[in-house]
Amino acid sequence: MISVALLSRPGLMDPMKSLLARELPGVTVASWSEAAARDAELAVCWKPEPGALAAMPKLKLIHSIAAGVDNILSDPTVPDVPLCRIVDPGITAAMTEFVLWGTLYIHRDFDRVISNARDGRWQRYDQRAAKDTRVGILGLGELGTDAARRLVDLGFAVSGWSRSPKQLAGVRTFSGTDALDPFLSETDILVSLLPLTSSTVGLLDAARLSRLPKGAALILCSRGEHVVMDDLVALLRSRHLRGAVLDVFEQEPLPSDHPLWREPGVLVTPHMAAIASWETIAQQVAENARRLLRGETLLNVVDRARGY
Ligand code: NAP
Repeated sequence: MISVALLSRPGLMDPMKSLLARELPGVTVASWSEAAARDAELAVCWKPEPGALAAMPKLKLIHSIAAGVDNILSDPTVPDVPLCRIVDPGITAAMTEFVLWGTLYIHRDFDRVISNARDGRWQRYDQRAAKDTRVGILGLGELGTDAARRLVDLGFAVSGWSRSPKQLAGVRTFSGTDALDPFLSETDILVSLLPLTSSTVGLLDAARLSRLPKGAALILCSRGEHVVMDDLVALLRSRHLRGAVLDVFEQEPLPSDHPLWREPGVLVTPHMAAIASWETIAQQVAENARRLLRGETLLNVVDRARGY
């Protein structure tokens, strides 16, 4: 039977021990603080210490506990063994809920009326039909595709941007770097569901965000590093942008004294858009462990060259 190491900050992955033992009878599971972890063949990771994976001579498979793998690939010493991520209908459904909520929050002016309610101000805004609000989704993968479909169902004018060309019923699709500016210039609510890679880090800077029409808003569900936050704040303060729902940050948890918490027009949420259950993570890790032992094709393997 396979041996597993859990690489994360202390205690985070403790629930995985009993769940993996149930899924994989006979498995040995060690936290990174235990010496046995160095000899494991399978590493289950969330932000492993730089160099830790390179110090595992028997390593055959690395598994992220999340949909994203930037938490692992940010370490240039990660050994060249297969890397898998979690792809789960539960995560997809949760992300779609978050995106629908965020879109309605802006489209139906909840951002404004919640702020007005604090001051006891009764103010109504002109209602717009969903078809007149253009929602643009950066990233048409597992998560972006589902959110796009559900937004189409609600009647929004939906577009999406990806690396390779896509066809999606009811969605205007754009692909490649040259198509990004035209895509942004026709987007009222921008939703980011990109993976964090060397091509997408800092993508949303002053130049790109300025391409959005005046009064546009951002829903950031991907990674904090996709946005140059100072540029975003400057565009909010100049009133070019109307607001932003920010779920992810370069530094998490966002410190309580961070100015973004109090920036007018910004709503901070605590990286809560879509979180896989330990049960689901353990099942997917165990399935890949069984496949590894049987020499079968692994599920949800990441393309290391693309970074996602
Ligand atoms: P995915 O299935 O790998 O899809 C990624 C999409 O982004 C694909 O459509 C891909 O294009 C596109 N893309 C990647 N690099 C690009 C580039 N340079 N230019 C244009 N398009 C590019 O990923 P996913 O499962 O949907 O997850 C997306 C991200 O969501 C994760 O990486 C993670 O950071 C974030 N996430 C956040 C939370 C949260 O709670 N906030 C939860 C889960 C995930 P192609 O289709 O052409 O390859």
